[in-house]
Amino acid sequence: MRIVLLGPPGSGKGTQGEQIEKQYAFPRISSGDLLRAAVQEKTPLGRQAEAFMNRGELVSDELVVDMIRERIAAPDCRQGYILDGFPRTLPQAERLSGIDQGRRELVFDILVPDEAIIRRLSARRICSGCGAIHSFHSGGSSDAATCAACGGRLIQRDDDRPEVIKHRLEVYHAQTAPLQEFYRNRSVYHRIEGLGTVEDVFQRVKDVLETYSSELKH
Ligand code: AMP
Repeated sequence: MRIVLLGPPGSGKGTQGEQIEKQYAFPRISSGDLLRAAVQEKTPLGRQAEAFMNRGELVSDELVVDMIRERIAAPDCRQGYILDGFPRTLPQAERLSGIDQGRRELVFDILVPDEAIIRRLSARRICSGCGAIHSFHSGGSSDAATCAACGGRLIQRDDDRPEVIKHRLEVYHAQTAPLQEFYRNRSVYHRIEGLGTVEDVFQRVKDVLETYSSELKH
């Protein structure tokens, strides 16, 4: 099975991907995480991607498709995998449909209004130690707060600054939203209401996944 998580930045793709990974043991492949790791390690891919990412723009289709193709070929993806943040453009979706043909593909489009996304992303902090996602407002904590899980320092992603968030949303509407039509025409497309608690949203995802229970590991 291949699970594709669509939806704007900040809609909860990463969080829901983690829930699916935990429950069904498919690896979650986040194009954003892979790119951030490449930037950190200063690989040739990371050097090319960094400026685009900091501006909230998309990295070239060619680079991202090659990166994902290679990741999907790893042995842990044999049973299935979750794509989080890929594809993000029509050319990427077209290229993906030619990879791993014949595998069951489900698309979850997690939908959240722009105003809620701006609030969520402005409040998002990432643990520099374990990568856990926190909300600055939810704990009423200060900017200097540390991670409840590991004590690591919480930092704001460069592209979660307000001016970049706005641009990421414009990029989403222009380049990624057209994928809704692409996938709707392939009848594997499920709209998921993304407002509510993590558990509420995951229940909506599970309701769909459980209709394919014979293809899932629990
Ligand atoms: P994310 O963590 O998914 O919000 O991605 C962070 C940034 O990585 C995006 O704003 C893009 O610059 C880049 N990125 C992630 N996934 C893709 C993709 N599928 N295509 C192009 N750029 C991507």
